[in-house]
Amino acid sequence: MLIGAMNHLRRDVLKEIEWIADMGLEFVDLTLEPPVAAAWKINPQAIRRALEKHRLAVVGHTAYYLPLSSPFESIRRAAVEELKRCLEVFSEVGAPWMNIHPSREPPMHARSFAIERNIQSLQELLPVARERGVGLMVENLPCHFNSVRQLSPLLDALPELGLHLDIGHANLLVEENTTDKLLAAFGSRLRHVHLHDNKGGEDDLHLSLGAGTLDIAHYVRLLRDCGYDDTITLEVFCPDLHYLAYSRDVLRKLWNETPVTAIQEEGARLSAR
Ligand SMILES: [Zn+2]
Repeated sequence: MLIGAMNHLRRDVLKEIEWIADMGLEFVDLTLEPPVAAAWKINPQAIRRALEKHRLAVVGHTAYYLPLSSPFESIRRAAVEELKRCLEVFSEVGAPWMNIHPSREPPMHARSFAIERNIQSLQELLPVARERGVGLMVENLPCHFNSVRQLSPLLDALPELGLHLDIGHANLLVEENTTDKLLAAFGSRLRHVHLHDNKGGEDDLHLSLGAGTLDIAHYVRLLRDCGYDDTITLEVFCPDLHYLAYSRDVLRKLWNETPVTAIQEEGARLSAR
């Protein structure tokens, strides 16, 4: 399992890579977003060299507000074009996966409209992604794409699509965290994880692990139980990096201390439910 962090979209990407490496993290969750880290402002070759120098892996992240379900066709197409530009960058820097945030329905439109438009946008991106050697995955988002029922229309329609599970998001605006059910339904398609703490409700607090109400040990067990052993980004957004370093240590310790027997017991407990 690799632990990583995201670059700050208002700061120079190369400098961000430096502190991520200095902290002993193992990959960069590279977000390509304006104002500073936009796909048209960064230098992919320089980023690739910096990643190689520090032996860091990389995963691709994109802006959450690109209007993939816009009823204005020219605007939807422009969003797809921006994501194609991101795919090019991720291919150049060596990222195996790029995430997509599905868009909710526009005003005065049915949810089915948004689903159709998201699928259409994803269908236009998939051949380009294939050509570039980058896989596409959808991230669960509070309220509109956070449960098995809400994500199934996209994941069922496009079997090639991976799941990017955000365990913090899965805790927001829900009766209970949706991670257990999402993993039960789509665990075999899990490609990347975001982890951060919050207190439920609607506030996406991005707290240090342990500062909110998430049972982190439980989610580590679930991830191990479904055979996941890949990238986990600590989306702990706090100017004081001590909180991120602390979260890194908590996650590594929990991961290493989850013995095989505990994994099997948890599996047995879940299947007995
Ligand atoms: Zn996230």
